[in-house]
Amino acid sequence: MSIVADAKRGIVTDEMKIVARQEGVTEDFVRRGIAEGHIVIPVSPYRTVRICGIGEGLRTKVNASIGTSTDIVDIQMEIEKARQAELAGADTLMELSTGGDFAEIRRQVIANTNLSVGSVPLYQAFIEAVDKYGAVVHMKEDDLFRITAEQAKLGTNFMAIHTGINWETVKRLRNQGRHAGLVSRGGAFMTAWMLHNEKENPLYTEFDYLVEIMKEHEVTLSMGNGMRAGAVHDATDRAAVQELLINAELADKAHAENVQVIVEGPGHVPIDEIAANVTLMKRVTNNKPFYMLGPIVTDIAPGYDDRVAAIGAAISSSCGADFICYVTPAEHLALPTPEEVYEGVISSRIAAHVGDMIKLKKTREADLEMGHARRDLDWERQFAVAMNPVRARQIRDERMPADTDGCTMCGDYCAIKIVNRYFKF
Ligand code: SF4
Repeated sequence: MSIVADAKRGIVTDEMKIVARQEGVTEDFVRRGIAEGHIVIPVSPYRTVRICGIGEGLRTKVNASIGTSTDIVDIQMEIEKARQAELAGADTLMELSTGGDFAEIRRQVIANTNLSVGSVPLYQAFIEAVDKYGAVVHMKEDDLFRITAEQAKLGTNFMAIHTGINWETVKRLRNQGRHAGLVSRGGAFMTAWMLHNEKENPLYTEFDYLVEIMKEHEVTLSMGNGMRAGAVHDATDRAAVQELLINAELADKAHAENVQVIVEGPGHVPIDEIAANVTLMKRVTNNKPFYMLGPIVTDIAPGYDDRVAAIGAAISSSCGADFICYVTPAEHLALPTPEEVYEGVISSRIAAHVGDMIKLKKTREADLEMGHARRDLDWERQFAVAMNPVRARQIRDERMPADTDGCTMCGDYCAIKIVNRYFKF
């Protein structure tokens, strides 16, 4: 029995009750959202996790992706990244290692976090193919499905799977041309495999089998964004829209089989196309939870891409995106450090909150509390509401004023103190 099947039969599970409490909505709202495919709660029969609801009417959630690369393999650093992500307030974690002993790294990361963990089985399948058969294009289809099931049994809660890349998608990618190709590793691997072998994507042709695996291990299916553009000038093109249409149809099919589904969205999008992307995605997927990757809204600020993505994430969340994949300051430059993971999560959490202030008006209460605390020059209350109280306290403590009511920004000419003397707000 899956959580979707329970929801369709009118059963309110413990997970639904927890999400209802966390979000201040009714249990039936959550149950109906899951039954209709508008909400997911990534769970796993193999692991107990911190429950997290994603979807319509719920707070925008933030994912932090970590993992090794072929150049940097350090399990302890990956565990530390998981810890920093959790400390910074990430809602979920994706373990995306492409270097070292994948299974061991994933096992250790999973053992060291309470968060729901996501993966991309395709990475492991293709990289194992390099070791076993000499090149990614020699990957065997059976290995791909075997690895998917193995990762599920490790307690993976959700998986990004590149189902929407088929010959139609590849044809459109080839015909229209792009300025900067595509930046999805899964998309690149699968496209190369299809072209080399002149075969259709097995995740598309064997989708029913994939759904069986998802169902058996109760994994939430995240329909991968393999056609992700690597430049804002390539956003919202035919290949991306084609992939979305295929994913939307398959998402309905999976949900009809009682599998929870999320649909992933693009990664580089100029501000004026974000609302259209969210509306299109929500419309064609029958309102499935939208997992927005970033989006990066300008390509010329490497070193600050956490902030660039936060601008895009705030807008996409305000327009209806439900789930944001963070971006770190190291994006496009290097594998992030644990400190950069922390920074990336904080930037995305700020963006998610800013979006929620528009999408879910009730989330403005914290801002009102901060406004009052500032008016009262009540620093402890300000720190209590602050998204990162440690940093806020640290900055103030480093530069304390002579008169501890105000701060060293205006010193004796603290506007709040002057006005409070004459007005009672
Ligand atoms: S000194 Fe200036 S910045 Fe600091 S609390 Fe007063 S008005 Fe605000």
